[in-house]
Amino acid sequence: MKKINIAIDGPASSGKSTVAKIIANDLGFIYTDTGAMYRSITYMALKTGCALNDELAIAALIDQYPITFKLGTNGQSVFVGTEEVTEAIRQPAVTNAVSEVSAHAAVRKKLVEQQQAIAVNGGVVMDGRDIGTAVLPQAEVKIFLVASVEERAARRFKENQQKGIDTTFEVLKEEIQQRDYVDSHRAVSPLKQAADAVRIDTSGMSIEAVVSAIKQTITKKGY
Ligand code: C5P
Repeated sequence: MKKINIAIDGPASSGKSTVAKIIANDLGFIYTDTGAMYRSITYMALKTGCALNDELAIAALIDQYPITFKLGTNGQSVFVGTEEVTEAIRQPAVTNAVSEVSAHAAVRKKLVEQQQAIAVNGGVVMDGRDIGTAVLPQAEVKIFLVASVEERAARRFKENQQKGIDTTFEVLKEEIQQRDYVDSHRAVSPLKQAADAVRIDTSGMSIEAVVSAIKQTITKKGY
């Protein structure tokens, strides 16, 4: 298959990373989780005691601590400098601070450049908030995944329980709504469906059904 780029965007916990990983694996493409990049830099800001509103200091951390992905037997691991942060970046402290950090233009500029470099030769499935609109506006296939906030909170609740993270459904629902609000209302590259993206409402759909709908979209576009 031709090495196209596939952009998968959508709000928090809409199932983007789960289906993006499966599609990338099935097509032999590289999977890039851009949320993990914003989470990694947020983790470093919290760790180094950087104020979350200190845009330039946080942007400087990106040069100091390169973010890398490594493929292992347990899927993809994330590193910041030499530290493995795969689990740490999913903790509530990072989740609740990431939208403030990702709203900074200087932070986005640096991470978007890295994301574009990853996709320069095609063959990438990239998930995030602004992939179809800002990072890869020329992506051959663009998907926008949505789901009701109740369903998304329920999915996150189950995930957290499996990981031993203690949170309530109500708190998760509020946090997801808050994150979506900030992500959709920031000045730079807000969460927004690209005009040429295919919207899929995954409420009540199984993972397999969502993967199959995306594959149908890819085929329909002639790839
Ligand atoms: O996808 P995930 O929920 O892990 O993303 C974490 C956060 O990173 C989002 O809430 C958003 O603030 C930010 N993000 C972004 N642009 C992207 C991907 C994620 O601003 N392309």
